[in-house]
Parts: sequence; C-alpha cells; structure tokens
Amino acid sequence: MNVTFYGATREVTGSMHLLKDESDYILLDCGMFQGRRKECEQKNKSLPFDPEILTNMALSHAHIDHSGRIPLLVKNNFKGRVICTRATADACAFLLKDSAHIQESDAQYLNYKMLRSFLSKMKSAGKDAPVDRREQKEIKEILKKGGNRLDTETISELIKTYHLREIEPLYSIRDAENALRYFDGYPNRHSIEIGRDMTLKFYEAGHILGSAFSVIKSLKNGVKRTVFYTGDLGRFHKPLLKDPVLAFEEEDRDVDLLIIESTYGNRRHEPIDEMVDKLKSVLVETFNRGGSVLIPSFAFGRTQEIVYALHKLYNNKEAPRAPIYVDSPLATNLTRVFGEHLELFDRETHRDFLEAGENPFTFDRIEFIGSVEESMALMREKRPHVVIASSGMCEGGRILHHLRYKAHNENNTILIVGYMAANTLGRRILEQGREYEKSGRSGPPPLIKFFNKEYPLRAHVEKLDGFSAHADRDELLSFIEKSDLNIKKIAVVHGEEDQALSFGRLLENKGYSVIIPKAGQSMAI
Ligand SMILES: [Zn+2]
Repeated sequence: MNVTFYGATREVTGSMHLLKDESDYILLDCGMFQGRRKECEQKNKSLPFDPEILTNMALSHAHIDHSGRIPLLVKNNFKGRVICTRATADACAFLLKDSAHIQESDAQYLNYKMLRSFLSKMKSAGKDAPVDRREQKEIKEILKKGGNRLDTETISELIKTYHLREIEPLYSIRDAENALRYFDGYPNRHSIEIGRDMTLKFYEAGHILGSAFSVIKSLKNGVKRTVFYTGDLGRFHKPLLKDPVLAFEEEDRDVDLLIIESTYGNRRHEPIDEMVDKLKSVLVETFNRGGSVLIPSFAFGRTQEIVYALHKLYNNKEAPRAPIYVDSPLATNLTRVFGEHLELFDRETHRDFLEAGENPFTFDRIEFIGSVEESMALMREKRPHVVIASSGMCEGGRILHHLRYKAHNENNTILIVGYMAANTLGRRILEQGREYEKSGRSGPPPLIKFFNKEYPLRAHVEKLDGFSAHADRDELLSFIEKSDLNIKKIAVVHGEEDQALSFGRLLENKGYSVIIPKAGQSMAI
C-alpha cells in the first residue's frame, strides 16, 4: 500500500491524502484550502489527480477544510461513495450548501469589482481624466439595485456585452446539492467494505459532532496493512460530546502508519474546568456594567457548546437572568442536527439533560433568530443580553451588523471563543482590543474597519481559550501513549510548519519513527 499527502502538509487547511493498493484508490478527506484569497484560489481549483480513478472516499468530519472540495470532486467525474458517519453526512447537507453560497457570492462580488473598474477606465479614457465621484456613483447605481445589493443579471449581461471573462465560483449550490447524493453515512465501530480488499471502521474522535478516526485495512496476497487516520482529534473531558476513543477492537490495534493532526503540536490550552467559571465572570461583569455580550462563533460546534455551557449556568442559577439570542440560521439548522444524534453525547449530558427530559439546546432564556427583520430588531435592543452570531472569525454574516451596533460601547464585551486566523477582522479585534486593555484603556480607542467604515473599539475584548476543538500537545501525546494502539510509524500532518516539526521532534525523542510530509510527498506502507 502507498499514501500520497496532498494537503494539510505543514499547514492546517486543505486536508487530502490518497491511499492506494493494486486495485483501489481511496481518498482520505477532500478539504478546502483557506487563508489568503489569491493563494488559496489557485490551490483549490486544481485537483492533483483525476477523480475518476477513485474507488471511494472516506470523510473524517464535516468541517470545510476537510470536506469543502467534495462538490468539485463530484463535478469532475467522481464515481465512488463519500463514506462518513451519519452525523457528518447530516451536517454536510447544510455546510456544503453554505460553502457554495459563499463561493457564489464571492464570485459575484469579484465580477462586480472587475466590471466597475472596466467601466471607470472606459469613461476616463473618453475624456482623458480619471472619473470623478459623481461618475463613480453613476457606475455603482447601474450595477447595484437598491441599497447595497448587486444587480447580478445586469453585471452578467454587461460582462458578456464587453467580452470580459466572467469569474466562476469554485462550485455552485447546485453542484453542492448534487454532491450530497454521493454521501453514505454509517455508525461508528462498523466494518465497511470500501474497496476490493479494503475495509474501513470509524471510531469517535471527540472533535466535533460526527468526527471520526478512520481505521483502513488492506489484505493483499496474504499481506495485511493498517492505516489509522485521526482526522482532527478533540480534547478530553470536554462537555457535550464523547471523548476521543482510546480502547480499540483487538483487530484494529496493530497500526502500520498513524496519520495524526498537529494543529497545536507545540501549545497548551487552558484547563477545561476553568472555562465555564470564566464564561460566568464575563457575563456577570458585563451585565453589572449594563452592557451586552457579543460572541462571534462558528455555526457548527462552538455555538452549540456555548449554548450548552450557558444552559448549565442557568440551570445552576449561576448566571444573571438575561436573554440569549442565537442569530445565525445556519447555526439553528445545525443545532437541529445535534439534536438528532443523541448517541454521540457524553454520559454527563445524558444524565443532566436527556434523562431529565430536557433538550440541552433549548431553555426559556434562549431564542433562535430566523428572519433578517428579527435580526435587525435585535441589533437595536438596549437591554443587556447575549448574542451568539457567525461567522466565527467576523469575516461576514450577521456578526458584522451586531459589531456595528455594539463595538463602540464600553459597557459591552466581545467574547472571543474560537481560533482567529491571521488577517481576519476577528484577529484584529482580539489583538487591538487586548492591547487597548493592557494600556489601561487610556487614549483614543483602536479603530476597526469593516463595511468600508472605521468603528472605535471601546467594548471590552475577552478570550476563552478552553473551548478549542483540537487536542493540545499534551493531549495529542497522551492519545498516542494511552491508547492501546501498537504504532509502527507516524506521519504528522495538519499543523503549521513550526507546530508539526515541534510535535515530530517530541515523538522522535520518545522513540517513534516519524515523517512530516511535504505537499505531494508519497511513501510506501
Ligand atoms: Zn475540524
């Protein structure tokens, strides 16, 4: 058997690895590269093999950096099945369509910008001077209809009229819908035939609803090979979902190659038990000031964890009685998917909620906001409250509108509960807000820019680190050492270069044989 590492090699996004033996090609994940637009666009567009050769693919979990290019695969003649857990299939039904929607809107915006600059150049060439404000406004009025909405039909027509090259989305909503027909969901600990001589079994990975470790076994001419792919590995003792599995069925324990993630290969998280206390103190302090708490959050996973933690605080009468709003239609849909997979919840959730006949995600203080009108009304709400909205890194979505109304008010708190990648608005809020805090909030507040305007950041900025969905260095190591796997060789993937190299060295010092592959690198198993 042979494996080629195509993505998430010395970086965290674009997970994709190809396993092959004499008769089968099995793809492990088909993720999207995320980060700087130009760089990623190029990397996402081209698949490094012909999808037609694939027998099947195994999907570790629904996050877009693992699943986001499946519609592209299907668009390019993939003939196999997308094998995953049932919860992953259910979550992908929403996440892939959302991803397609983002691709389509991005392409529309780029087409608008290209056409706007083409029309400006045309106008200025005629009179030999740059276009003035009034002319700029005229051009915008042609390309937009009412407010800020793009007139996509006119844009498309004009692009054709002037023989410009229209920018196509990576895939459309229709492509995403089509891809969903290839999904095939299975329960954990169930042996699935995925090739002529290959089987696959999933075990809980504790990272996100439906996330799974994949054990792939091939038996060829009496030679047995086992590959263990962690996908993303969760934290231990986190509330809500079951922990990553450590005890495997005997037939799965001898592993020739472990492919493991290393997002936090050189870092330690805050202890989990401090997380809820910290959440509580942020709420109490903010409400005492008469302010509201704004939580930018990923719609899948983090939102449900925060709601669960808030529900616990309210049940224990430990939180001030203020309303909580989840303002993200995607998060609302995904919360329903959580509710359909009670089998994945941990013992504590069953004891504290389900056995008492309670839904962990609904209680009398919480409201899920649907329509844009309701969301607009909420933005103007003056009484102290909590809003959880996406996108998680403040790069789009309803969170921006809440920031517009809340960031300037020093009574409010923006609570960061997730990873903020470099060059995102979320990262700027986190860094500049904390710096302002450190300076004793003296002098003018930092300015944050979005919607083409600058807003003073007077709200307090706090961070809770313990909610991370990824194991830290100690937890990654403890998975390897405490599980009952007998591991021959380890490939370290899904970590920025410094994290992957550092974790690799740690493993080598413990006596393991380690490879830290580069993009496109292959190895025999
Ligand atoms: Zn993930």
